[in-house]
Amino acid sequence: MAKIGVFVCDCGNNIARTVDTPDVTRDAAEQNGVAFVENHKFMCSNPGQESFKKAIRDEGLDGCIVAACSPKMHEATFRNAAEAAGLNPFRVEIANIREHCSWVHDDKEIGTVKAKDLTKMMVERIKFNRPLERYLMPLTKRALIIGGGIAGIQAALDLGNAGYSVTIVEKEPSLGGNMARLSETFPTLDCSQCILTPKMVEVQNHPNITVHAYAEMEKLEGYIGNFRATIRQKAKSVIDSECTGCGECWEKCPFTAESEFDMNLNPRKLIYMPFPQAVPTVPVIDRENCPKFLKDSCGLCADVCGPDCIDFTQQDEIIEEEFGAVIVATGYKLMPNVYPEYGGTRPQHMTPKKLTKKLKKLQPRSTAGRLVDVINGMEFERLASASGPTGGEIRRPSDGKKPESIAFIACVGSRDCNKGVEYCSKICCMYTAKHTMLYNHSNHEGKAYVFYMDIRAGGKGYEEFINRAQSDGTEYIRGRVSRLSKKGDKILVKGADTLLGEALDIEVDMVVLATAMVPQEDAMDLAKVIGISYDQHGFYSEQHPKLMPVDSSTGGIYLAGACQGVKDIPETVAQASAAASKVMQLFSKEELQREPEVAIVDQEFCMNCWDCVTVCPYLAISREEKRDRNGNLQKMVATVNPGLCQGCGICNTVCRSKSISLQGYTDEQVYAQITAFDGAFV
Ligand code: SF4
Ligand code: SF4
Repeated sequence: MAKIGVFVCDCGNNIARTVDTPDVTRDAAEQNGVAFVENHKFMCSNPGQESFKKAIRDEGLDGCIVAACSPKMHEATFRNAAEAAGLNPFRVEIANIREHCSWVHDDKEIGTVKAKDLTKMMVERIKFNRPLERYLMPLTKRALIIGGGIAGIQAALDLGNAGYSVTIVEKEPSLGGNMARLSETFPTLDCSQCILTPKMVEVQNHPNITVHAYAEMEKLEGYIGNFRATIRQKAKSVIDSECTGCGECWEKCPFTAESEFDMNLNPRKLIYMPFPQAVPTVPVIDRENCPKFLKDSCGLCADVCGPDCIDFTQQDEIIEEEFGAVIVATGYKLMPNVYPEYGGTRPQHMTPKKLTKKLKKLQPRSTAGRLVDVINGMEFERLASASGPTGGEIRRPSDGKKPESIAFIACVGSRDCNKGVEYCSKICCMYTAKHTMLYNHSNHEGKAYVFYMDIRAGGKGYEEFINRAQSDGTEYIRGRVSRLSKKGDKILVKGADTLLGEALDIEVDMVVLATAMVPQEDAMDLAKVIGISYDQHGFYSEQHPKLMPVDSSTGGIYLAGACQGVKDIPETVAQASAAASKVMQLFSKEELQREPEVAIVDQEFCMNCWDCVTVCPYLAISREEKRDRNGNLQKMVATVNPGLCQGCGICNTVCRSKSISLQGYTDEQVYAQITAFDGAFV
């Protein structure tokens, strides 16, 4: 005979406003098998939980229903409380009378009838809940970090300093990411490389951190605590362990290509390190352009290399390693100028998918018809950087002249889904203010204009920074720019000052567009390789926007930095440390506990049709050999890996022999629940 307790929560007034909770409690008391009922203002509060535990102990309850908010919110809370009181946690169920009732009904009578029905259904269901045990899984205490920008670097140092082994996979030849490209950082105007490069060196020298630069993820298999990564180490054509980074090779290399690191504003050699402070200090050969690979000529770098470490025959290497957790920190890019009205080329239909495809093909500096002196924010960073193509002097790309005036245009492509993306890129107001300061400091006679929609400066010290920029002599004009065109050697900016209600024509030497911050062009491809989800823009999706902002949709994979959404550097660093602490939390245990609500196969009845193997989206089901005691193969049967199974339930719906069931959602439980449905509220 069941002894079930029903606990009805008011959720303050969240539920009680639309549901007569005392009436629901009285109704529950009359259900067959219910031995105890209670109505509480806040069941999730400490007194609420204590009362819940006391009732389990005092009344000897063998099943509990909490009629409250969504199970996503508090199922774990009450299951843990039940466990503490000595009741198997899987003998606790939630009847969601908040999201399914009070939040969707205005009429208290209907809300109350429905709440009674939902509670009664769970009472009937719990009579079939079997006590389940969590699975214990092995745990590999090594972390993989994908992306070697500031987010990846911070997470790696946090984990490495905590004593865990970390591997960074970075697709570029050096660590550093976008932050290495920046000149100064807002709001302190400290030199970006000065604060970043010591961390890069620390990573390189850290005994617990391994860096695979110039490498890409090929595959990620497995599950939380037990991932197997396949990494492609691209051929650098240089033997890492022998190279001293002396630079003889790139000094003597006679050929150049445009430097990706310098946003194609500068040439680099065909054997190159992306920037002088690069880590690791090993060059790579650009095989797509190098004549040695195209027509077997030159080879000068090999002739001059003292330690003889140029290897033209080097092949890509496939590395396979085991990890327990993964942090994705692949960063962002700034949209190039894709707008014909701003002298660039705009895609026909700017849906995010098409935009991303278009961006893949776009070479920002070679787009036909483009105004060369209209650049984006990242290109300006390289012009202003001491390690950039002009040694930190701001000169315009077309003729190298120092611009006497610059127009900075904010919100290009952001906050406008017809022209780009609907979200605010968040950092543009700030970096535009920084750019005006850098310009004003480098050219005291120069004139800076900023066209803006409104200023968003929500961080610590940010509003003060904008005020500083405005008092530096920059003219802030609230309004949009409709067109940029060439006028002699100037650019004519046609726009409007919406505060004065006037049309404006301004001639300037250069224009800087604060274009939208968008995901890396290969973000969606990587998501498919490692099995995480992404939003409509291509940013990786977090598990919960408020409560689980660094967990991806897949257990054991965490997110750090701008790959998850627009962020500035302090937020990126904070999220990287948060992701690292999540990994430490995971690694703090010797074994991993998995919830038991997964599929199981009754192998006696399995007909080996493999329908389940075909449909399982998580590749959790495999074929297992059954042998007799003499080792003779009896039959093949399906078996579920509880580490991979996400409990989606697809397999047990297709299994013709009904051999698969989902623990916690058995047919008996579901039928009992459905049969108890009264439907008086419908
Ligand atoms: S010459 Fe050889 S040792 Fe020197 S940086 Fe180039 S590859 Fe390395
Ligand atoms: S419940 Fe879903 S995830 Fe688990 S084995 Fe079945 S199909 Fe795969």
